[in-house]
Amino acid sequence: MALGTLSGLTLEGTWREDPTVCPHCGRAAWPVPQNITLISHVREAEWPRVKALTDRFKGFRFCPHLRCPVVYFHRDADLVVVEAEVRTRVGYKVDAPPIPVCYCIGVLAETIREEIVVKGCCDSLQDIQRYTGARTGKWCHITNPSGRCCGPMVQRVIEAALRERVEAGLAEEARRLAEQIPADGVGEAPDIPADTCCRLTGR
Ligand SMILES: [Zn+2]
Repeated sequence: MALGTLSGLTLEGTWREDPTVCPHCGRAAWPVPQNITLISHVREAEWPRVKALTDRFKGFRFCPHLRCPVVYFHRDADLVVVEAEVRTRVGYKVDAPPIPVCYCIGVLAETIREEIVVKGCCDSLQDIQRYTGARTGKWCHITNPSGRCCGPMVQRVIEAALRERVEAGLAEEARRLAEQIPADGVGEAPDIPADTCCRLTGR
């Protein structure tokens, strides 16, 4: 069946019994804690419609899956919002630069990779923060289109960069660094208050 989007586009998909599942890709989607996230990221032309919808509905979902065009959806509102209707580049959805990972400070995935792999920076996780700034903001619920902490995405990028560094022959050092990364479930929606989420805690 065809799903209706915010601006009247159509997209193939099916609403499932489970309202947390993305109707296009069929995978689990994250809750968007506050509607201000949608207002902050949809294109200005869609503000009247999104305002009317967010006045009526809460509990929108964010689909974090690569290449699925759905950014937000709400089953009861019979609504999907696709990438073309969002003015922010969604890092979770792209695998070519620029890949935004930390929206509070403005850090790209390629910047983190460059610091770790190319420049060989960083003796500790705090160093990685110092060099890239990633995970030091606290406005993710507004700045990050997922409405959630950038932590899991930053962690995924750091881990991939450290793996690359291992392949470059710096195994011991990379393993030591990897051990300092907090284990907060890559791919899961972090259940952390948005104003404290980016403060790093080592294990
Ligand atoms: Zn999806």
